[in-house]
Amino acid sequence: MQEKNSLQGTPVRYIKGVGPRKAHLFEKLGIENVSDLFYYLPRRYEDRSRIVEVKDLQPGRNQAVIGKVLKTSVFTARTGTRIFEIAVGGDSRRVFAVWYNQPFMKKVFSAGQTVVLYGKVELQKRLQISHPAFDILDGETGEESLDVGRIVPVYSLTRDLAQKYIRRVVHQAIRSFAGDVRDCLPTRIRARRKLVDSRFAIENIHFPYSFRNLERAYRRLVFEEFFILQAVMALRRKKTGKRGIRHKVGEELQAEFERLFTFKLTGEQKKCIKEIENDMAGEKPMSRLLQGDVGSGKTVVSMFALLLTARNGYQAAMMAPTEILARQHYVTISRTFMPLGLNIRLLVNGIDPKSRDKIQKELAEGEADIVIGTHSLFQEGINYNNLGLVVIDEQHKFGVMQRKTLRRKGRMPDTLVMTATPIPRSLVLTVFGDMDISLLKEKPTGREPVTTYWVGEDRRDAVYSFIRDEAGKGRQVFIVYPRVKETGSSDIKSAEEMYRHLQKDVFADLRLALIHGRMRSGEKKKVMDDFRRGNYDILIATTVIEVGVDIPNVTVMLVEHAERYGLAQLHQLRGRIGRGRHRSYCILLGEPKTDASHERLSTIAGTDDGFEIAEKDLDIRGSGEFLGTRQSGLPELRLGDIAKDFGIMEEAREEAFSLIKEDPGLNDPHNAGIRQNIVERFRGKLGI
Ligand code: ADP
Ligand code: MG
Repeated sequence: MQEKNSLQGTPVRYIKGVGPRKAHLFEKLGIENVSDLFYYLPRRYEDRSRIVEVKDLQPGRNQAVIGKVLKTSVFTARTGTRIFEIAVGGDSRRVFAVWYNQPFMKKVFSAGQTVVLYGKVELQKRLQISHPAFDILDGETGEESLDVGRIVPVYSLTRDLAQKYIRRVVHQAIRSFAGDVRDCLPTRIRARRKLVDSRFAIENIHFPYSFRNLERAYRRLVFEEFFILQAVMALRRKKTGKRGIRHKVGEELQAEFERLFTFKLTGEQKKCIKEIENDMAGEKPMSRLLQGDVGSGKTVVSMFALLLTARNGYQAAMMAPTEILARQHYVTISRTFMPLGLNIRLLVNGIDPKSRDKIQKELAEGEADIVIGTHSLFQEGINYNNLGLVVIDEQHKFGVMQRKTLRRKGRMPDTLVMTATPIPRSLVLTVFGDMDISLLKEKPTGREPVTTYWVGEDRRDAVYSFIRDEAGKGRQVFIVYPRVKETGSSDIKSAEEMYRHLQKDVFADLRLALIHGRMRSGEKKKVMDDFRRGNYDILIATTVIEVGVDIPNVTVMLVEHAERYGLAQLHQLRGRIGRGRHRSYCILLGEPKTDASHERLSTIAGTDDGFEIAEKDLDIRGSGEFLGTRQSGLPELRLGDIAKDFGIMEEAREEAFSLIKEDPGLNDPHNAGIRQNIVERFRGKLGI
């Protein structure tokens, strides 16, 4: 908070040339004070540093040119457009600068001035630059030019704020305030990582003297941003390092667990279980991310943590992102744990009030050992007797804040987070940077890979007859329709329409069912159960089935309008099939209209490797969108790009973790700047 009182916290309206009205315009860009302005990075730069003479101009390129104004003129074109132009040049050659509908320009220029123009030089009948950036060199009081003759910053702007103006304001702010910027990074880290100081960085990120300097400035600022973020991660990890539960573990438990399954655990599952066991036996609460592709066997691994907790006399809670998935986990887990005599409960919104009260009581009194549910598990009024473990499935749907709320329901419970969408390492370090990581890379053996086809509308009939063949063999089929974000009822209708059309005109002899997000949970459950039992051949669904439906007999998934889906979503969808003994097919029906959607479809058709898909996805979408900033807990980054600047992230992380290890309270006066920075940016966020 201190920063608010410092000079950098000075509101922009106190900068020379900015009054209350302009200050309001800056606010629209999220710029309130000088510091905001410093970190408002140019969108791009233009190299106007090389100024040529008129005789050396080359048509077709952006260039800065210097010369004398020979004459000015205003006239009206036949179209009615008012044109102002100046002729600039020397003896043999001249260039015309032209402004349309800006007759007031005539007040700016007069013959005899020396000017620098910058813009795209065109050769029509003559050399011409339309609406150039310009600077008038005469009569200036030693003022350096901000718009030409240098590498010039170009900002993203709102209407009513001109490039020229904002440049001037930024420059003014740097002049008045950059001297006060205290470098928050300790000197030895700067020396070790070869980082320029923050004053240099701020000056050069806006008005670089060279591209080399710009690069140094960028690296420094991004390093600082990542460093602060990683310091927060390190602090958070330290915090969870307080005393947690020390569970008793042992080989008997392991053996008891393995006996519950009809299959053998894979080597990777065993490895992950070992990691969890070590965490839980230790004093520090577990904070672990279990990453693995859909169907890689994560749920089975998490069940070990559930059992270990229950056997040590604590309660365990498992949270799933949707009701369908919660129910499915409940069915699988209670069936598997049947021989153990544990009290396992399901808590979702859809259950009746009486059962809800009963479960609530059992949880509070410690009667229930394991509870599975949606976020309703952690609503107010739900209290636990001794919550020892929180398992969160598909974490990216929840976000960091909720993770914290859950932990509060117990005293330092262990936390296991499972993500089915593989997350590239760069994002893992950012969003889950405070957690330990377990990976399940291979799927359990004995699974046929899913064959994926991407086809166009012209193949629709062939697709239908393929579906008919599979149904004829006793297999089942999903047909998936997209649901538009803004709850587009139109799309739900189209699923309904397609359902009626298919039942009547295409698959009259087959049994079709429909499921969508607007149905009450009881209805949905009934449809799913009936489908699972084989009472239907084809299930037509909106993306409610995206997560966690596991029906081995389904061998075909037809995705309609596949071009509308994100990569992660397509991968998730496809993961719903290929779960049984039979060969499975994912058919993407789509007509991509953009390069990005074309790339998505060819990626998904080309590979089944979740990590490869994730990297590609990050590439196509950028990190913010990749997880959906708001719900992911992805901290807002002002400068750095998680994917592009991953190298810097790793360096910053190393330094931040070692610094927090040495000075966990950030009490060393040398670290005061870091401390202040963290408080300023992250208080109340990210769980510190
Ligand atoms: P995930 O949670 O990662 O999607 P699950 O744990 O639900 O994966 O496992 C997917 C399916 O594979 C389930 O039907 C599960 O019973 C089965 N499975 C899990 N581990 C193994 C294994 N080691 N061998 C054979 N089948 C397994
Ligand atoms: Mg799962």
